[in-house]
Amino acid sequence: MTNIARRDFVLGAGAAGFALAAPRFAIAQGKKKVVVVGGGIGGCTVAHYLRLADPSIEVTLIEPKKSYQTCFMSNEVIAGARKMESITFGYDGVRKRGVEVVHDSVTAIDPAGRTVKTAGGASYGYDRLVVAPGIDFKFGGIEGYDAAVAEKIPHAWKAGPQTELLRQQLEAMADGGTVMICPPAAPYRCPPGPYERASLIAAYLKRHKPKSKVLIVDAANGFSKQPLFIEGWKALYGYGTPNAMIEWISGEQTDGGIAKLDAATRTVTTRFGDKHKADVLNLIPAQTAGKIALDAGLTGSGAWCPIDVETFESTIHKGIHVIGDASIASTMPKSGYAANSQAKVTAAAIVALLQGKEPGPQAYVNTCYSLLNDSYGISVANVYRPGKDDKGAPVIKSVSGGISPLGASPEFRRREVAYAHSWFKNITNDVFG
Ligand SMILES: Cc1cc2nc3c(=O)[nH]c(=O)nc-3n(C[C@H](O)[C@H](O)[C@H](O)COP(=O)(O)OP(=O)(O)OC[C@H]3O[C@@H](n4cnc5c(N)ncnc54)[C@H](O)[C@@H]3O)c2cc1C
Repeated sequence: MTNIARRDFVLGAGAAGFALAAPRFAIAQGKKKVVVVGGGIGGCTVAHYLRLADPSIEVTLIEPKKSYQTCFMSNEVIAGARKMESITFGYDGVRKRGVEVVHDSVTAIDPAGRTVKTAGGASYGYDRLVVAPGIDFKFGGIEGYDAAVAEKIPHAWKAGPQTELLRQQLEAMADGGTVMICPPAAPYRCPPGPYERASLIAAYLKRHKPKSKVLIVDAANGFSKQPLFIEGWKALYGYGTPNAMIEWISGEQTDGGIAKLDAATRTVTTRFGDKHKADVLNLIPAQTAGKIALDAGLTGSGAWCPIDVETFESTIHKGIHVIGDASIASTMPKSGYAANSQAKVTAAAIVALLQGKEPGPQAYVNTCYSLLNDSYGISVANVYRPGKDDKGAPVIKSVSGGISPLGASPEFRRREVAYAHSWFKNITNDVFG
């Protein structure tokens, strides 16, 4: 029975029914109810911090999967440096925080009626809704590539079976093979991710298949932390030399990426018409906000959801907040740390709004670590506040920050790896309990 149907039932059934359905009666009793769509990094964090800030709020989190695999550290799984179990988390910890976790998938959002419907046939009413569905893929931009092909040529840009498939293909590849990574044009989830992946795959190949190489065929002309990556690639993988284990073909040389794929031979054709053949191909497609955000009209005519930079409330549908990768939170990157930080600010804003108060001043943080091997890490960190861009439009602006220095000592790089692993432990504990 849905919560709304159950409430109607309670109203009609009198006292005998009330005891059975008491928790669901909360809305009628005036308790505030927040529904969260998506139990990933943003969704679990907002649910946690809503409960911390105001335990009287009923928080229901709807997520289809019974366990979640983090994308962060999934590049280590692909490179054989960690096990899948270590990036897999269940929802018991979230439940222990007083969040009602429902394993179902939201299929429709009714902003006017303030309800969501699920594939399982349930319907949930809300005072405020948080939508945190992460990303979906834009298939169709590359001839010969679609969702079915991606089952064999993995993107591994949502962690899980795709991560395992890419790992298996690397293991099966003969020494002397070429691993090709094709990143899409921005914006996409985790801008430094493809280059960390190239580095960690190179680390695996160096140890186990030293005649092999990684070829990055890019849509973009530059990438996040590029000088630091290049410095590391030179030190570790002979970048720029004839025996380089990593080669980067920029967007200028591809005319903006891949036009065509021959899946049978794992050959891509760039928009310029050049062909590159891989033994293992990791094609990362262009992305959009998670499908439910598009279906609910939260993206307007675009691919991502416009939001108020102070509360993450949708500028399209009032009462709905969109956080994490699905939102337009520029200049913050689409990262797990960013989703976690946005979720905390959003939880505070929702609590204030539900109490009829003005949300307080906001600050957001993000740190992105990238690993080049098991003892070489680099990072970028920023603090952000709502502000205006050059044209006066609202934007989330970096107000301070830094990047790890070029020319740092081996000890410094080793410590960055330790900080990255420590960050992973802390954030997963914060998100999943
Ligand atoms: C290879 C790689 C490496 C990365 N490394 C880092 C890193 O080092 N640091 C970092 O900060 N970030 C990293 N990221 C990025 C990070 O994983 C994402 O930015 C983060 O997961 C975004 O959180 P989110 O809550 O927006 O989405 P997600 O964590 O993807 O959660 C979305 C959830 O919504 C659920 N969902 C979708 N649709 C529905 C629906 N209709 N109904 C109910 N539930 C739904 C999904 O099942 C999913 O569980 C990396 C990403 C990749 C791909």
